[in-house]
Amino acid sequence: MKILVPVKRVVDYNVKVRVKPDGSDVDLANVKMSMNPFDEIAVEQAVRLKEAGVASEVVVVSAGVANCQETLRTAMATGADRGILIQTDGELQPLAVARLLKAVCEKEQPQIVFCGKQAIDDDANQTGQMLAGLLNWPQATFVSKVAVAGDQATVTREIDSGLETVEVRLPAVLTADLRLNEPRYATLPNIMKAKKKPLETLTPAALGVDVTARLKTLKVAEPAKRTAGIKVADAADLVLKLKTEAKVI
Ligand code: AMP
Repeated sequence: MKILVPVKRVVDYNVKVRVKPDGSDVDLANVKMSMNPFDEIAVEQAVRLKEAGVASEVVVVSAGVANCQETLRTAMATGADRGILIQTDGELQPLAVARLLKAVCEKEQPQIVFCGKQAIDDDANQTGQMLAGLLNWPQATFVSKVAVAGDQATVTREIDSGLETVEVRLPAVLTADLRLNEPRYATLPNIMKAKKKPLETLTPAALGVDVTARLKTLKVAEPAKRTAGIKVADAADLVLKLKTEAKVI
């Protein structure tokens, strides 16, 4: 069984992002980029399924600029077998990525596509769902536990009212939630080995996919600065201040 894991190169989660002075976008100049954390979790799960003898190959795919190769190499250093870069310099919105992934699925015929539940840059939470729709495959999103037997995956999802268990027939799209696992670190020998693993480069045109943006960003702004908090003397003082100063009750 082949598992395809889409991995996105995003601004590192430790970076405090800056908005460009013209408000057109986030400033990515000289900013540390890393693999989207939910995609690290998806790679880890795919590798664990391979180690358990359920999967035979883990293929990672990234769409974006040439530097996405680094993200693919990182995934290969933690156990993925090979990488596919779909190289393009333009903006990629979730529908375009889903279309690219559909084309890769038609070529690679994976049994599971294991996405992250969302990318921490656009917070879209759309790509996996759109891909399942385009492929007409079942989907199980926000996966916090998974077991695969035959052509069936049993998935636990964290939902507001507790834990939900669903079964999906494979091939299917799964999306990884935070508590699915704790990804391993890449060791130096594995980083070296990953440099020799196969990495294929494709383009949207070669896959026959039009990636023209459908949505226009009107403005990007930083959140309002938070003002300093105050200490209240007692409950009565709190109620008074909520009434007279904050005017929320
Ligand atoms: P999003 O819908 O943008 O929140 O992204 C959800 C998931 O789709 C990510 O966690 C990745 O698994 C995948 N994905 C999104 N964009 C890309 C990309 N450019 N390249 C590879 N995978 C992507």
